[in-house]
Order: sequence, then structure tokens, then C-alpha cells
Amino acid sequence: MGFDSVTEFSLRDIDHVYIDSKVVGSSVARRAFNLFEPSRVSIVEAEPFADDKGELSALQFDRSKKNIYLTEFKGTFFKRCPGARPGLTCCNYFVLNLGLQCNMNCSYCYLQSFINTPVMKIYTNIEQALNELEVMGRDLSGETLRVGTGEVIDSLSLDPLSLYSRELIRFFRKYPKWKLEFKTKSSQVDQFLDVEHAGNVVVSFSMNPQNVIASEEHGTASLLGRLEAAAKCRDRGFPLAFHFDPMIWHDGWRESYAQLVREVTARFAPHEVPISSVGALRFQPEQRHLMRERFGLSSMVTSAEVVSSADGKLRYDQSVREEMFEFLIGEFRKHSAEWRIFLCMETPETWLGAVKAMPKSVVGLEQAFDGRVARVFGARKEIEKGI
Ligand code: SF4
Repeated sequence: MGFDSVTEFSLRDIDHVYIDSKVVGSSVARRAFNLFEPSRVSIVEAEPFADDKGELSALQFDRSKKNIYLTEFKGTFFKRCPGARPGLTCCNYFVLNLGLQCNMNCSYCYLQSFINTPVMKIYTNIEQALNELEVMGRDLSGETLRVGTGEVIDSLSLDPLSLYSRELIRFFRKYPKWKLEFKTKSSQVDQFLDVEHAGNVVVSFSMNPQNVIASEEHGTASLLGRLEAAAKCRDRGFPLAFHFDPMIWHDGWRESYAQLVREVTARFAPHEVPISSVGALRFQPEQRHLMRERFGLSSMVTSAEVVSSADGKLRYDQSVREEMFEFLIGEFRKHSAEWRIFLCMETPETWLGAVKAMPKSVVGLEQAFDGRVARVFGARKEIEKGI
């Protein structure tokens, strides 16, 4: 099966699972033996495709998305969000990487700028990650802390294999002031919906119009699939976040994004989505060559007119970004002034241009950063209890 499919990729699209002989007893390895037929699973003494070193070719990069290597992570799991850098205004949260590479295939994906491992990895030693969090919890259990798992691997698309969502949700019950964010373009949520949670797990969906998904976000869930998955999470009491990111300019973009807003607002009320963000196409200049090789020149992304910005990434001109952000935010406001949408991974100039304010001065946004999710959820719990 090629990468031009418009259906969501799943475990059946994985060619092979390689299991490091040191982790055959791990829960993920045991599950792999159950989920994949024997011809698609091998126990190995060394990392597969190890001869493919350095920059990956287009074919090697494609192959890396279809082969999984289960192994231990040797290093520190807990890292700062890459947005927390000089020159960018960001929501400043922490990232927890439980794997590397993604089985889906977006044309703009920033993993194309730095991944040089020839196989997708799932780290089997989640206990170590939870131990690191426990240690942090000795000092920080009373603080507001946000942790995201979707930086270099989608939080949920391979979760039917790892089931890490279930362990993390249970772990975060011990730290009700902390917040965990699953960030996804998949619809894989059924595996954790029955787990009791403390209201501090935000399920966060990247949203784009269906025509953009079909053109640029190969192997991801359809817009309807994401909306239906989000509705299931809402119905189980999980707070939601929607990231309208990256907005992609194309002929007719206004109607596409207006339709997206109609689809969202028809199904969700603003209080059910306490955090929403918007961002526009951006990518590292060094990934352009690989993007063109892998997706040709006719995609909305590879043919985009972009300029270098202060942080070195290629983006639409600032006036185009502001126009797109203002339009999307305006469409939401037509439905309700209660929709609050912030800009993520954006420069201070664009904040001032599109929102006319900096993050901490936007009404309600400081709570979104500091505790709004928990308060909104707490209020909903009270309502559900009939108080
Ligand atoms: S879903 Fe995210 S990580 Fe996966 S290919 Fe798309 S942009 Fe990359």
C-alpha cells in the first residue's frame, strides 16, 4: 500500500515489527506478538537497517514509517518544548517522547528536517519515564505543569499497540494539578475511553479542512474521523483542545476554513474546547528538498510561496499569516464570542498583528495557560453531579 491513501493508516499498514532481544518481555513486545502475524515480527540483536546512516533518501524515509523497532530509550525522557526559544512566543510546556517517527505522512511534517534513524521506534521502558515524573513530582506536585507526548511521534496513532495512553492517564490521576496532552491527527481513542481520569488529560486534535487533509495529511484520520473521536472523548469527560495548525493557503482557502469552522461549531460548544490554537505552514529550509522528492511539486505545501522568518523557518509572509489567523478567529467569533483561540509557535509581531495583544494580556488566555482546563472540567463535574 502506498502513502497516497486517503484512509487512515493503522497497524495493518505496518510492514514489520523488530523487537530488540533485550525487551521481548516488555508489555509492548508481548502485545506485538499478539497483534501481528509471526511473519511480520522478528527478534533482533541490533537495530534494523543500521547500515543506513546519515541523511535518509526519500525511499528510506518512507520505509522508516512502515517498520517499527521496539527498544529501550537510553537517555532522559523529559524535555522542554522546542517552542520555548528566544524569538518565539509559546505556551512553554514539557515534552515526553515515548517514541520517534510517525506512521502517518504529512507533506509538511517537521520530522523530515531531522530524523535520520531508518526505523520508527517505540520505547518500551515507559516505567523509566514515569519514574522521572515521580522524581519531579517530589518538588512540583503542587505546581501547574503541562506535559505533551506528541512532539516526535503522534500521541495516539500507534497507541493501540503501546497502550501508553492508559498508563499515563492512570499516572496523572496522582497529580491532579498537572495536565497531560495527547496530540493527534488520528482517530485512535477507543483504547483509553474506559480509563478513569482526573480531568487533567487533554485530548488534542489537529484540525484542517477535509480538502487539505486529503491533499497534504496522508494516512491521517479524515476531518469527520477526528471530530467523531473528539466527541467520544468529550462524552467521557476528557477536556479537548483543537489546533488549527498548520493553516495552509490554497485557492478557495476562505471557504475551506469557513466550512471547517461550521463543522466544528455544529458539534462543539466553546466550553467543551477550553484551548484552541491556530498556526500557519512553517518548515525548515533543509527539509524542502526531501518534501519535493516525496510529494512532488503540485502539493499545496511544496508549491507554497514562503519566506525566511526570524527563527530561520520558512513561512508565509507575515501579512498573509495575519490575514489567515484573523479570518479563522473571525469565523469562530461569528458563532460565539466565547471561542478563545491563541497562536502557537508564532512570533511576537504576528501576535500583535492578528490578536492585537501578547499572550498573557489576552482575556482568558492566561487561564488557558495556567489552569483553565482544570477549572472548566471541575465545573463540568459539579454540573454532572447535579450540584
Ligand atoms: S501526524 Fe504529525 S508527526 Fe505524523 S506525519 Fe503528520 S505532522 Fe508528522
